[in-house]
Amino acid sequence: MDPPSSVVKNTAPAVNAHTHLYSGLAPLGMPAGEPAPRDFLEILQKVWWRLDRALDERSLRAAARYYLNEALLQGTIGLVDHHESPRFIEGSLEVLADACQEMGVAAVLCYGASERNGGREEAEAGLAECRRFLADNDRPLVRGVVGLHASFTVGYDTLREAAELCREFDTVMHVHLAEDRADVEDARRRGWPGPLERLLHFDCLPPGSILAHGVHLTVDEVKECERRGLWLVQNPRSNENNAVGYPSALHASVKVALGTDGFPSDMAAEEAALMRIGREHGEDPRILRQRKPAGRRLLVERFGEDPHVLDHSRWERGREQALGRREAILEMAGSEARRLWARMDAEDGAV
Ligand SMILES: [Zn+2]
Repeated sequence: MDPPSSVVKNTAPAVNAHTHLYSGLAPLGMPAGEPAPRDFLEILQKVWWRLDRALDERSLRAAARYYLNEALLQGTIGLVDHHESPRFIEGSLEVLADACQEMGVAAVLCYGASERNGGREEAEAGLAECRRFLADNDRPLVRGVVGLHASFTVGYDTLREAAELCREFDTVMHVHLAEDRADVEDARRRGWPGPLERLLHFDCLPPGSILAHGVHLTVDEVKECERRGLWLVQNPRSNENNAVGYPSALHASVKVALGTDGFPSDMAAEEAALMRIGREHGEDPRILRQRKPAGRRLLVERFGEDPHVLDHSRWERGREQALGRREAILEMAGSEARRLWARMDAEDGAV
């Protein structure tokens, strides 16, 4: 096995501001959707939503442990995760939190509530998992927040309940926002200028909330996010891979961090992609260079000034341990991946 590039370069440890531990096994031969997806919604329906429905406790644990172990080796000291496993909701955040705490990766976790498979019942179970975790978690390296999948997969009642949960626990929201034009079109069909305005109207975005993507936000909307203290997270490799467009308005805020959206947590590779794609879109490289380090500020907002969270020596110890257990983790991940692909095959592919 080749060492990840960041180990070779020994770069300072970074924070991945938006990712999905549940997709950790994907690099180990996940079957592509067939026939090939034609657009973003088909990519979700034929690949990622089939994967998340196939997850159970064993496969989720293996995915998280494999992803985190590689993340340490790739130079990641902390991450912000957005989780969904519709057939294993209750207790799913415990599985992720235990893996993060044990391996020494600081993490902000949520369950992304959604109505896309099982309607309101599914959304209520998702929010209940956030509530349970917010009430119970006392791990030093892990914080919970409230999660919604995206505006286009939730109705008014779910929005109101999510907002109430943020207020009750005095915490923030983590949600996908305007990743694809479909999210904007859905909000407009419901009578809103866009998904940002819809989420704001229902008080779902307290200051400090984390908005993944913002590809189809206008400059005015991005300025409004900054004014309200909201984080935006750019995910260049994912956006390019899904052909959803380029987030050309993000320069209007200083609260923009960098995430991998389920890609391996190699933040040096993600930043290289950002610089390459950003230049193609006429961006100022000095602004782009601020996005990777901004993830550390985001993490400090959630943890407070706890010196342990971004402690370089803790990450170095974690990296040494990650090297030692790498082969055993890969072996477990490989066998769980094969079982997971079989479970995906058994899925009917229905949304
Ligand atoms: Zn995402």
